[in-house]
Amino acid sequence: MNNPVTDDRKKRLDSLFEAFSIVAEGTYVYLCDMRHDYSRWSKNAVDTFGLPSEYMYAAGDIWEEHIHPEDRGSYHKSIDDIFSGTDSGHDMQYRARRLDGGYDVCTCRGVVIRDENGIPEYFGGAIRNHSLQHSVDTLVGLRNQYGFLEDLGRYLIRNKTEKICMIGISKFVEINEIYGYMFGNNVLQKFGRFLYEHVGNRGHVYRLDGTKFAVISSTMSKEELQDRYNELRSHFRDGFELEGKHIILDLSAGLITLDRFEVDVQTIYTCLHYAYNESKVNNRGDLVEFNEELNDNNKQRIEKIHVIRESITRDFEGFCLYYQPVVSAKDESLLGAEALIRWKSDTYGMVMPDQFIPFLELDSLFPELGLWILETAMIDAKKIMKVCPGFVINVNLSYAQLEKPDFMDMVVDLLKRNDFPPDHLCLEITERCRLLDVDLLKNIIAGLRSMNVRFAMDDFGTGFSSIGLLKDLPIDTIKIDRSFVKDIEEDELQKKLVGSFAHVADIFSANICVEGVETTNMRDILREYPVKSFQGYLYSKPIDFHSFMAFIPTLPSPE
Ligand code: C2E
Ligand code: CA
Ligand code: CA
Repeated sequence: MNNPVTDDRKKRLDSLFEAFSIVAEGTYVYLCDMRHDYSRWSKNAVDTFGLPSEYMYAAGDIWEEHIHPEDRGSYHKSIDDIFSGTDSGHDMQYRARRLDGGYDVCTCRGVVIRDENGIPEYFGGAIRNHSLQHSVDTLVGLRNQYGFLEDLGRYLIRNKTEKICMIGISKFVEINEIYGYMFGNNVLQKFGRFLYEHVGNRGHVYRLDGTKFAVISSTMSKEELQDRYNELRSHFRDGFELEGKHIILDLSAGLITLDRFEVDVQTIYTCLHYAYNESKVNNRGDLVEFNEELNDNNKQRIEKIHVIRESITRDFEGFCLYYQPVVSAKDESLLGAEALIRWKSDTYGMVMPDQFIPFLELDSLFPELGLWILETAMIDAKKIMKVCPGFVINVNLSYAQLEKPDFMDMVVDLLKRNDFPPDHLCLEITERCRLLDVDLLKNIIAGLRSMNVRFAMDDFGTGFSSIGLLKDLPIDTIKIDRSFVKDIEEDELQKKLVGSFAHVADIFSANICVEGVETTNMRDILREYPVKSFQGYLYSKPIDFHSFMAFIPTLPSPE
């Protein structure tokens, strides 16, 4: 250190800093003693951005590392001008990298204070973080999602064990529709206040997006949380009076224990959201705990999801697509393939999609992965089409992708960019799509089908509303799930079912593809029904692109 700070100067810095902090509430404050290039920064900036300490030498250089590469040049120039005395302050906007890797847009205003000789002595100012501006929800008066993530980040840094619970109100749309939006707001207020009082000083309560709330508690045991939730649930199931109306609310809840600190805030949010969704969709609202099942190598699931999630941001490192052939039921010639994702790493080996897709589906990064899947599948399929001109590539969609308002434009754009013939792409949707608005789905499907993109209904018959969905959605192919044919050799009922599915497909002018064909005997039985195509281990397991290319010549040519 060329010119270490003296005790006097440090005291002066502190008292000036304190004065600064009072007037700059709601922002991060920094103050630099320019003689020593020694600064003090607000504690919350240190926590949010992962700075080394509140006190730093050469803080300008440290901060520069956190600034988005595209914004760094102008920041650097401004700091140079300030320290060389050419400029007396700055007022600029840049993106700064948080501890969790995401960027926040910040406005930074600073002034230079000169000494009696006119030499720059202090440089101080405030940084306003625009994404944290409103960490309180104005409707309910609780801390909001930003506040939630901020607090969670703090617990992570402190290695503090916490229980985190996400509680949401189901079918709230109906309340808005029947009684109006204002009334709906009143219900949310009432719910928020009740939850706040119910939790009391045993935890912190937040309002997340829409009708979802969260509780973070370090004192309550799992059992106690479970009991509290059950009380809350029965209270709102019995209903309450509001403006002369009796209102009943259905709740769902997910729970996660924070005791692993190598993961980031987003991963915890994703896993908590998954548990919540399981409660809502598959457990009629019973509290679902995120299951910390151990993998083969003793790593916990949440860490695995964290690492896989991070790979998305590292240029999809470790992800790859496998292809499973779809053959003609008539002559077993190649019609196409289904793209199935895998993730590999040295630590975890090959990870199958069931281990990560259901969790990541709800993650804000998932649409990016979805895009990568679509594009990679198109690039590979174009190469396959050179040797098999009629080849159709099937790509699985997740309902979270469809929910994105720009999904259709994104597909159209990818088709154009890759000069891909739309009629060689078939998008597979599953019954989980029933969670989406049918009109929205209808629009997407109709729009893309008008460009000749094909659609398949995956895992037909496994959910509740297959036929209902078919009635509303124009579909080219119905894929019959393996579970309906796996015992077809001895099970008369399964034969009848396949017959009925074929009948349904006929009504909706769709083709049938049977999945999970494993033996020649199964194939022969299935050939008695109007099935167009087969997919299954009898032909091939999903294999990587190169193996797939080598596999093609072993299949018969079309008759
Ligand atoms: P799915 O779409 O129903 O895919 C078929 C699954 O059945 C594949 O498992 C495949 O390996 C397996 N399978 C195929 N033939 C047979 C057979 O003859 N016998 C048996 N026992 N199994 C067979 P995989 O690759 O593990 O994929 C599991 C699920 O993960 C998929 O089910 C799909 O829902 C999801 N998934 C896979 N890739 C993607 C993707 O790129 N995007 C999305 N959103 N989901 C994906
Ligand atoms: Ca599929
Ligand atoms: Ca399937």
